[in-house]
Amino acid sequence: MYSQFFNNEASANIRSLLSKEVCEVLLKIGCFADKKSLRVFAVGGFVRDLILNKANFDIDIVVEGDAKSFVTELASEFNAEFKIFDRFHTAKIYSEKINFDFSSSRKETYKCPGALPEVTFSNIYDDLFRRDFTINAMALSLNSDNLFKIVDYFGGIKDLEASVIKVMHKKSFEDDPTRLYRALRFAHRFGFKLEEETNYLFKQAIKDKRVSSLSVKRIASEISKIFKEDMPETIIEELTKNKMLKHFAHNVRIPPLEPLGVEDILSADLEAIYWIYFLSQMPPTFKSETIDQLGLPHSSRVKVLDGLDAFKKIPAALEELTCHDHIKLYYLLKKHCIEGLLALSYFKLNKTNSEKIIYYLKNLRLIAPVINGKDLIDCNIPAGQHIKNILNYITELRLENKSLSKLEELEIAKQLYANIQHKNPS
Ligand code: ATP
Repeated sequence: MYSQFFNNEASANIRSLLSKEVCEVLLKIGCFADKKSLRVFAVGGFVRDLILNKANFDIDIVVEGDAKSFVTELASEFNAEFKIFDRFHTAKIYSEKINFDFSSSRKETYKCPGALPEVTFSNIYDDLFRRDFTINAMALSLNSDNLFKIVDYFGGIKDLEASVIKVMHKKSFEDDPTRLYRALRFAHRFGFKLEEETNYLFKQAIKDKRVSSLSVKRIASEISKIFKEDMPETIIEELTKNKMLKHFAHNVRIPPLEPLGVEDILSADLEAIYWIYFLSQMPPTFKSETIDQLGLPHSSRVKVLDGLDAFKKIPAALEELTCHDHIKLYYLLKKHCIEGLLALSYFKLNKTNSEKIIYYLKNLRLIAPVINGKDLIDCNIPAGQHIKNILNYITELRLENKSLSKLEELEIAKQLYANIQHKNPS
């Protein structure tokens, strides 16, 4: 099936799979490496996805040499923005659509299971050997003498053909138990199976409780990646079954996510939505400080904390309301981020209460006066709490379906302010 990548036309076949934009940049990188007499390769997921003919705009590049100085010079020649990460000897080049991550080819040695490896610079063979699975351990040569030739020392193409996830060596899961999570994730994504020996090693690693050496942050990072997959519930079920949710509850379930018909009007953070529901199932013994250790980006962390608060407060309060109680519904839900409300609707509430949230999201969420505080100050209404009260009053009129022009809103505002002054002459 994949013989096209090894015949005489292999390079042309690969080139035909690359988008014009990606091809141009890879050619530039290869030419630049030729000038510097360095070997350079695209590696990992990008090569796997290329062979599977799936678009991937996260491209990892490995340089047999110093990646930091390579990127610094490359970026200055092509006037590109870049960033060096000294600690990891890696660098990033920013382009509009494509992410390029550069690193020096390296060898990794694991001194003790579950800890981070010791790293030494080495060649492309060692760099590919340190990887998780054979399908992720292929490279695409970018130098002109081997342009677009696939480097496949470990049978990655054969395993893609056989639809299997296979570890590089027997100690793989022991060295780095996060690979247990990655194995399930890739198997799920591609509809692959764990290769026979890999499956045995997987079960053995679970039996030996290898995941117990992993920190909250490392497990959470794998869970976050799982939440980005289509239908993560199946993978979460596997994690539960294999007791891989250390630090969390072992019986977490995520139901399939049925679209609510509001997704297109909201650009919600799906990962945060899953985290909210996931964490809402933790037992009372779960420490809230653990949330700070998840390594979530600040914006997601804020949404998760707010969402968990919504899980405590909203369900009972919603019982008392109907979709016609616009003002009460608005004030109840407005305080919470979209992600918390969606998590409630997707996973927690019954249909009637979920519909109240959907109604709010579709019809009430964006209701606001046309005028703002500055308009009021321009009308000689001085700054103060009453500005907020006036704007709230106008919002409530709009929530009661009054249609008002800007002029009408201003008239109402002036009248309200006059009433306030009348009641509280200063
Ligand atoms: P995705 O499509 O999910 O981004 P990816 O294969 O690009 O998948 P990354 O997590 O971005 O995965 O990692 C890039 C590459 O780094 C992988 O293809 C793999 O070769 C290597 N890699 C990542 N994590 C590990 C690990 N825990 N052990 C060994 N190699 C790893």
